[in-house]
Amino acid sequence: MGADGGSVNKNYNLKLQIQKDKDVPKDDDTKEYIKQSRWNYCALKSNEFLTLPLVSDYRGNLYNKTSILEWLLEKDKQKAYSAQQIDKFKHIKRLNDIVQLNGLTETVSDENENRRVIKCDFGDDVFIGTLNPNSNATNAQKNFVYISPCGDVMQRNALGLMKKSERKCPSCLNVYKSTDIIPINSEDPQMLKVLEDRMTTLKKQNIYHNGKARKLADPKKGS
Ligand SMILES: [Zn+2]
Repeated sequence: MGADGGSVNKNYNLKLQIQKDKDVPKDDDTKEYIKQSRWNYCALKSNEFLTLPLVSDYRGNLYNKTSILEWLLEKDKQKAYSAQQIDKFKHIKRLNDIVQLNGLTETVSDENENRRVIKCDFGDDVFIGTLNPNSNATNAQKNFVYISPCGDVMQRNALGLMKKSERKCPSCLNVYKSTDIIPINSEDPQMLKVLEDRMTTLKKQNIYHNGKARKLADPKKGS
């Protein structure tokens, strides 16, 4: 991270501190539970707590990198995974279909023994962890995004810290395209449609989710 990114982050932290004083509306408990499980468990292996390093696909799902590596290496998927899993994650065929997430730090929560917390470095907010009734983590989680291909994670409003004309990642300062902002665990159907459309466009351009070009050795084969 360059000096510019550091000072931007410092200002952003101050802004977040102010926001924390505001009240947060509470959702229905059951709905909240389902929502929270996506923020605590690997999308592929639902019995595994999310733990660094994390990766994400073009849909903004969260996975443990180890689970995805196992998935990619498994030759006999029919035997190792359920039909539902195979169908749900068939879009992950190679490492280029995922992006490793950056700017996250894992610590042990003070309030809850043995419970890990993953914090987002940019803004120093809770990304994953036990919800403290006094924290606004639930609210914050709704707005986390990452940028492809750098994988830097931040809250969406952090993107507004940079000049819109420049479109530079506030963390690594690399230039990105507006379409390469991936909302994490979004439940907004419109947003999910945008993500599907983005991937369709990338496929037509022979580009993977992580921005790398597909090899065109056998154009008939397709994907
Ligand atoms: Zn970045």
